[in-house]
Amino acid sequence: MDLSYILNEFAEERENYFNAVSPPIMQTSNFVFNTVADMRNAFSDEYAAWLYSRGNNPTVDILRKKLAALDGAEDCLVFNSGAAAIFVVVLANVKAGDHIVSVDKPYTWAQKMFDVILPKFGVTTTYIDGRKIENFERAILPNTTVIYLESPNSWDYALQDLKAVAELAKAEHITTIIDNSYCTPLYQKPIEMGIDISMQTATKYISGHSDTLGGVLSGSKAMMEKIFNSEYLTVGSGIQPFNAWLLIRGLRTLPARLDRITATTRKVVDHLKNHPRVETVLFPLDEHFPQYELAKAQMQGACGLLTFIIKAETITQIEQFCENLQHIFMAVSWGGHESLIIPKCSAIQPADFNPANKEHRMLRLYAGLEDPEYIIKDLDQAFEKLV
Ligand SMILES: *Cc1c(COP(=O)(O)O)cnc(C)c1O
Repeated sequence: MDLSYILNEFAEERENYFNAVSPPIMQTSNFVFNTVADMRNAFSDEYAAWLYSRGNNPTVDILRKKLAALDGAEDCLVFNSGAAAIFVVVLANVKAGDHIVSVDKPYTWAQKMFDVILPKFGVTTTYIDGRKIENFERAILPNTTVIYLESPNSWDYALQDLKAVAELAKAEHITTIIDNSYCTPLYQKPIEMGIDISMQTATKYISGHSDTLGGVLSGSKAMMEKIFNSEYLTVGSGIQPFNAWLLIRGLRTLPARLDRITATTRKVVDHLKNHPRVETVLFPLDEHFPQYELAKAQMQGACGLLTFIIKAETITQIEQFCENLQHIFMAVSWGGHESLIIPKCSAIQPADFNPANKEHRMLRLYAGLEDPEYIIKDLDQAFEKLV
């Protein structure tokens, strides 16, 4: 299926709604039945029925079909947030006594689940450096049921060799789950590389406008149906129709936005690499990135997020740099129209700051849809004010 077809036409049955170009927001909680037999059918197979919007909803259905097609998956489920999607997919694939192998430093709320919630139910997690396939081989135990991946990571962009991990996991009958948020399915297709379930936050690039949250799971119909019938309906965190509609709207412009951000990011990376106040720039598709070859082989693109290590002796200098930015906002998240920055030192106490620790001097920048020169000028004036 062509990308343009998926984003502009696929799954939209316009004859059902007056041939409107934009699909309706089916803002309803429930659906009416004319016969008891119809109602009985819906109860017996809610996955295939219009019964109640905690399960299926027509606006959400359009979004699901488009996102599944983008991932090259049989089906997908869309949640109220990426965190909900992570919680549900892991919960659905472990039982008491099971073991998970996860890449180290996964997304904050994935890590919270592994460290705090799952141990209460006798599920343990081993964190590994996922850059080496041997580390997966060594960490797998007889009770390992899930391998949890995030490639690239959204701070240091560490990658895993997805084909190699998928092959290893298949041989051991282990389910593989990836957080594909950095790339989106436009820039990386984990399912085609053999990964079982691809998760992404829709809050970032799919929404694209910093105005809604959402989370996506894509995989086989059997897996999605299993999750739908238990965890999806029980947790009750499916996306709401209006938010689904915003995400459909976001999809229309996704390739154009990623193209623009890709070009801008290249300029910002090159500028920062040559800046005297910058020690290192981390970006997966930069020639000097340690895993550049792997990134080139398994990703079709990269954009937006990059991390630079600023030359600074004190935490105050880094704070001043961030506070002197006039247009780049200091805020979490990414994928919207607006450029953003997060200093790593915002997550540590000032007394613990150690300039010898490169991580403490990391700044994560998201390049948005502004003019590249506008972003670069803002960075430069903040650098100039550094004393
Ligand atoms: C934001 C994010 C998530 C969680 O998504 P929400 O929609 O905020 O819940 C998961 N993984 C990564 C890498 C993210 O950046």
